[in-house]
Amino acid sequence: MFNFIKNKLKKIYSQFTSQLNALFGKSTIDEATLKELEILLISSDTGVKTTHSIIEELRVRVKDGTVQKGTDLKAALQDILLNTLQQTPSKQYENEQVFLLVGINGSGKTTFIGKLAHYHASKGKKVLLVAADTFRAAATEQLTRWAELSNTDIVVGKENQDPASVVFAGTERFKKEHYDILIVDTAGRLHVKVNLMNELAKIKRVITKQLPDKRINTLLTIDSMLGQNSFEQAKTFKESTDVDGIVLTKMDGTGKGGIVFAISQELQIPVAYITFGEKINQLKTFDAQEYIRELLSAN
Ligand code: GDP
Ligand code: GDP
Ligand code: MG
Repeated sequence: MFNFIKNKLKKIYSQFTSQLNALFGKSTIDEATLKELEILLISSDTGVKTTHSIIEELRVRVKDGTVQKGTDLKAALQDILLNTLQQTPSKQYENEQVFLLVGINGSGKTTFIGKLAHYHASKGKKVLLVAADTFRAAATEQLTRWAELSNTDIVVGKENQDPASVVFAGTERFKKEHYDILIVDTAGRLHVKVNLMNELAKIKRVITKQLPDKRINTLLTIDSMLGQNSFEQAKTFKESTDVDGIVLTKMDGTGKGGIVFAISQELQIPVAYITFGEKINQLKTFDAQEYIRELLSAN
């Protein structure tokens, strides 16, 4: 299932995993081993804060004798990483109907929408996309291409039209033509946080008014290749609007898998989906257990 991660690990983590496996092969675990592991985790985008709490937890287990040798270390790390992810239990989006995508420009919102649209359309659902990124004409063109590729419908506005009014038109059509799924694309401007906040609040207000019985699932795209940098931007989005889940994009790239743990621990938002390429089917629901298993067993 997660073969792409295995392949990725082979490529990018080859050094990381060989160093990790060297630690798992040790006959005794001491403070120097923990320091080595700490450096490894930080260098794989796990984040300083999250890494410290992982190492602290391991240190406790070394002291109480639970972790004595490398194989114990591996089991304990697996357990702690899983706990880190399960602090924010992931939700199933299978039966959800309304999705709002937010995230900085280039993080993969529009591409993800194309994939999600394809996924639901291939299950026989009637899907409507809303191009509420009216800031650039190219954004609407790009989403229109994804609508064609996924064989779904789209509502577009004019360049610079109030995004909320495009969303309004989208919700009207959603109701009139009895769609199953509504997916809204937004602009990723970040430089004026208060504008972003107002724009997203307004879009949400329109959806809530128009579709009062539907839950709005706000998903934030994070480019896994940008590591800690992208993490900081995600924080700004979280401060601007309620975020239900993360879409971790470009997992086929040069990013390092540790960002998943930093997001769960520090942003307290579960990872909902991962994407691993530009093709329409390169999307997967995130499974914490599977992810960690693959991460630690790669060699
Ligand atoms: P947006 O500005 O947030 O809407 O981002 P886009 O969806 O336009 O994506 C930005 C760029 O990243 C585009 O060139 C996409 O083809 C590319 N991209 C998106 N998702 C992935 C992915 O999972 N893997 C790779 N390699 N590229 C991706
Ligand atoms: P407000 O603009 O902050 O007062 O929030 P509203 O919920 O009243 O409306 C938000 C936006 O949705 C408006 O600026 C319009 O663009 C759009 N909108 C809301 N209601 C309607 C409507 O009845 N018709 C149309 N065409 N657009 C609407
Ligand atoms: Mg876009």
